[in-house]
Amino acid sequence: MLSVIIPAFNEQDNAPAAASAISRTLDSYNIDYELIFINDGSTDRTWLRLTQLAASDEKIKAICLSRNFGKEAAIFAGLEAVNGEVCAVMDCDLQHPPKTLVEMYRIWENSDVDIVEAKKRSRGEEKKSYGFFARLFYKLINKVSGLDMSDSSDFKLMDKRAVDALLRMPERLTFFRAMSSWVGFKTECVYFDVEQRNSGESKFKFKGLVKYAVTSITSFTSAPMQIVTAAGAVTFIIAVIMTLDTLYNKLWGGSAEGFPTVILLQLFTSAIIMLSLGIIGYYIAKIYEEIKQRPRYIVSERLNLDKNDKDRRK
Ligand code: UDP
Ligand code: MG
Repeated sequence: MLSVIIPAFNEQDNAPAAASAISRTLDSYNIDYELIFINDGSTDRTWLRLTQLAASDEKIKAICLSRNFGKEAAIFAGLEAVNGEVCAVMDCDLQHPPKTLVEMYRIWENSDVDIVEAKKRSRGEEKKSYGFFARLFYKLINKVSGLDMSDSSDFKLMDKRAVDALLRMPERLTFFRAMSSWVGFKTECVYFDVEQRNSGESKFKFKGLVKYAVTSITSFTSAPMQIVTAAGAVTFIIAVIMTLDTLYNKLWGGSAEGFPTVILLQLFTSAIIMLSLGIIGYYIAKIYEEIKQRPRYIVSERLNLDKNDKDRRK
């Protein structure tokens, strides 16, 4: 059975549309499935719609989180609830075409791959600036972590083995896209064209995306910390040169000059120290968040998912 995980945050119109589009497609290809919607603290009628859907079709299951925990947490809530031997993560706004899901399922079925990843062939109707920042972000991730994630999306199909590996990772701050590459396993790619959003607008505003990018990078690599070391090394070299110069002037020349040098050095070093402290502080904050060992999400309600699901898993 294929379990489709669909995080939904304020998607009252998209949720029923996604449910019918995905189930229609999977039905027509004779694929056994369950749809697991995760209501990520929506403030509109999403949960009401999901309750109606779940009541009319027992293949549609729903989890209600107690507040908005973010897409990452919602995905993990879904992963922990799957019953099928293979599962897929999809957006609720039909930007990920159900046809591609079938293609991914067939690849999994007919070969021994564990993960099928859908990459964006074209980025659809998004702003130029967004595409620019997205590429910059992935370049950065690639440089620091060695994982090539350009054009990747959260649209992925993984079998039980890969999901179990993913769920064994204990961190609280998750980054699904990177973690699912990190676990390794045989991976195959398919390409899809990002469709237009069915209705409503994107939940990620510019500020949110910057925050998401910073959290993702820092939760996945400590490379920014090495910037601190590098900055320290550069300042040290400058300091050595300045020392030699100062000594030379003191012994063999006039030494009263050099006020600008002092000011510049002062500004330069204090800027680097501030920056470094900022980066270190950021990591300490993340460590603090991890060490509190809070749950990634809190479930307030489950529909069509039996209670002993949880006992079976633990
Ligand atoms: N989403 C979520 N929680 C959030 C933000 C988004 O579950 O806090 C879901 C949203 O409902 C959608 C998916 O994540 O199913 C992708 O969101 P969106 O379409 O807004 O992002 P974009 O396609 O613009 O990257
Ligand atoms: Mg979208």
